[in-house]
Amino acid sequence: MTAHPSLTASEVPAPAGGPAPAPRGRRPEAPAGPSLSPSRAADFKTCPLLFRFRTIDKLPELPSADQIRGTLVHAVLERLFDLPAADRTPEAAAALVAPEWAKLVAQDPSVSEIFTTDPVPPGVSAGPAVPDPAAVAAEADATGQAALLDLPPGEAEAARLAAFLSSASALLDGYFAVEDPQRLQPAERETLISTLVGDDLLLRGYIDRLDVSPAGDLRVVDYKTGGAPREAFEGRALFQLKFYALVLWRTRGVVPRVLRLLYLKDAEVLDYSPEAGELERFERTLTALSAAIERAKRDRDFRPKPSRLCGWCRHQQLCPEFGGTPPPFPELPVTVLSSEPAPVGPRLRDDPVD
Ligand code: SF4
Repeated sequence: MTAHPSLTASEVPAPAGGPAPAPRGRRPEAPAGPSLSPSRAADFKTCPLLFRFRTIDKLPELPSADQIRGTLVHAVLERLFDLPAADRTPEAAAALVAPEWAKLVAQDPSVSEIFTTDPVPPGVSAGPAVPDPAAVAAEADATGQAALLDLPPGEAEAARLAAFLSSASALLDGYFAVEDPQRLQPAERETLISTLVGDDLLLRGYIDRLDVSPAGDLRVVDYKTGGAPREAFEGRALFQLKFYALVLWRTRGVVPRVLRLLYLKDAEVLDYSPEAGELERFERTLTALSAAIERAKRDRDFRPKPSRLCGWCRHQQLCPEFGGTPPPFPELPVTVLSSEPAPVGPRLRDDPVD
């Protein structure tokens, strides 16, 4: 993995090697078989039981303040590029925070419950009983230390909301420290991409941003806003980007020249340049992973795999590793189960580093 200085879309270097292969991915018009998103595929790799809780049991998860802040910052960065290039200033981005927050609340009023002390609804997983210290710190950072002050309820909520919006603005400062949006014109933002590989495996996911150079080179950009230590989740983030690179290669016939992670909290850039052979191997890995998921569904065998991610897992209390008991396996025919969790309002970020 190589860190490069920030590039404009027009500066993405030309691809090495010969002409791009013809696109091999098929249009996923009528998917009847299994499907995978990067998050769910990474869930199964990380912990099969977590995959089951999210994808098969579809247990509701109360999003953390850190996740909601990530969703807000992604929305602001998407809107920022609606402005004329000269207007994409830090002040303009900061001015978008409150309106985008209002939109999120309008889409799903429950997101504002992170500022209240209302009880968690029955059946909803609120958070890990044994959280990772970094997860606790991220929550404190997102909601502000005002949560700890002995204020009347109304004032405490207002203080937490102000701290939350301010911490979102701080992440935007991190963005401007690593990129100049006045020098960029993204080709696509928040785009759903998908393809069919193998016999019938549907791969799909949302990319934060796609830059295309005049020569046709692609750069996939993913904003990372979460408070988790990135070294603990960098493999997961790279897995996600390779997933996007594979889908783009199969649908557009071009191996993305650069896969870029922008870590806003640390104001750091990480670039990776995939190669076709690597993506071919990755495609085989995903096909094997999908087969393993289908086997686990057939055998109803999703085992816990403890790791540091447990410190962020919303379902610890149902996990045997923490003394819990999973719910009975759903009696739905597994063939109709999609590999996506139940939608909860806006498309909230669900990885600790997202
Ligand atoms: S607590 Fe850990 S082992 Fe248990 S389901 Fe969650 S991630 Fe898996």
